[in-house]
Amino acid sequence: MGYASTRSVALTGLTAHVIDVEAEAVPGDAELHLVGLPESSVWPARARIRAAILNSGTAWPDARITVSVTPIIPPVYDAAADLALAVALLAAAGVIPPKRIAGRVFLGELALDGGIRPIRGVLPMVAAAVRAGISRVAVPADCAREAAQVPGTVVMPVTRLADVVDQLRHGTLRDQHDREPEPAPSSPFAVDLADVSGNQAARHALEVCAAGGHHLFLSGDGPATMLAERLPGILPPLTDKAARQVAEIHSLAGQSDRAPGITPPLSAPHHTETPTAIFGSVAGNRPGAVSLAHRGVLHLADAPEFARPVLDGLCRPMDSGQIHLAGQGRSVRYPARFTLVLDARPCQCPAGREECGCTPEARRRYRARLALLLSRVAVRAPVEWGDGQARASESSAAVAVRVLAARVRAAHRLADTPWRRNAEVPASDLRTRFPVVPEAAELLRSAVNTGLVTADGLPRLLRVAWTLADLRGADRPQLDDAAGALELWKGANGDGTR
Ligand SMILES: [Zn+2]
Repeated sequence: MGYASTRSVALTGLTAHVIDVEAEAVPGDAELHLVGLPESSVWPARARIRAAILNSGTAWPDARITVSVTPIIPPVYDAAADLALAVALLAAAGVIPPKRIAGRVFLGELALDGGIRPIRGVLPMVAAAVRAGISRVAVPADCAREAAQVPGTVVMPVTRLADVVDQLRHGTLRDQHDREPEPAPSSPFAVDLADVSGNQAARHALEVCAAGGHHLFLSGDGPATMLAERLPGILPPLTDKAARQVAEIHSLAGQSDRAPGITPPLSAPHHTETPTAIFGSVAGNRPGAVSLAHRGVLHLADAPEFARPVLDGLCRPMDSGQIHLAGQGRSVRYPARFTLVLDARPCQCPAGREECGCTPEARRRYRARLALLLSRVAVRAPVEWGDGQARASESSAAVAVRVLAARVRAAHRLADTPWRRNAEVPASDLRTRFPVVPEAAELLRSAVNTGLVTADGLPRLLRVAWTLADLRGADRPQLDDAAGALELWKGANGDGTR
């Protein structure tokens, strides 16, 4: 009877592998064997393919057909190669000419009724196909716009298996003729710092965090969310490489509606989200909120309301810049290097309440849930609702200029190191390669001796002092920079208590 081959793409984490799909039909009972899929995926895949073909008006081939995938698909099969398996099978059986599927990539999950469902991760998959030298890619129509973002692709949008079979029998798959207009890239200043009145300390803290990559704690009842939403707009724009990586993560998470662009992302999960939604799922190969914040901002509003495993679990990605998920013999890593902004009201009472009966002890317990996280946060500031009489505030564009200048200064100093932002410099290098002036060191050491700052906190203060020096355009942190870092450390409570 016949032989046919085509190609598809499988994902492990964000890593895409182009796979060969080969089919062979020999005379015999009408049977379908799938080789190279994870054991648990074979039965459901066979059921989808069989139903989709039968519901597409094509008779089931009267042959014994083997479809094999090489290399073997990773432990998680997300059904994205269904369409490739089906067209290979039909070509081997003589329903469509094998030469019309060779050298093409087919992506799409089959529905039982023969429809072709959208899949997650189209962006990294299509990028892998182009890297492998394959430009013609069939993708579910709902994913066509996303696929077209990859330079060098010829996208063939498909909606139903019946249409695919019909087009391939009579010629080739239709290209996407009229490309839908790209959505306009989001403006970094869609929300502007000029909208936030008063809150000078918090605005200053936000600028310092943007310039140095430090994490931020906003304390009190005030416009914390407004400030957090405005942080991406004052961060330096993403490089092309970082923008591509951010887009691929969002694609894999099924959030391809994020407008493409160079503004760093903001991920703001609600406190009711599950740990899986926050950290990601190894079984579903789906990144979570911490990875959607990669290269951008993770904002936890009303942070003490989050589940304890979420709060404590954030320390790992904060320390390593990635999240490692493992389970059921599977393991995956997603990038998760973000600037954390967390805020907390004084107590659990609903926002805006004038007076409440919470004891100091109850307030302390409420905040104590954040202790582990706050040990990694060097910058704190109070927030409060303004009286509406405040003078017009400085715009995001004005602040962004200072932030960029400070970043350039830091990157220049760190040019022969692996780090680019002050927040990344290890404590040992702060002591040896990047010392502050003696008076500044003395001030911070006395803060440790008096117990105001923990020994662990000292390097965090030194990093902030460097950022303050960079914002001033100075070559090295002076006494004032150390004092400024100490003020930011004390933040809302004035005494450094958390
Ligand atoms: Zn209260």
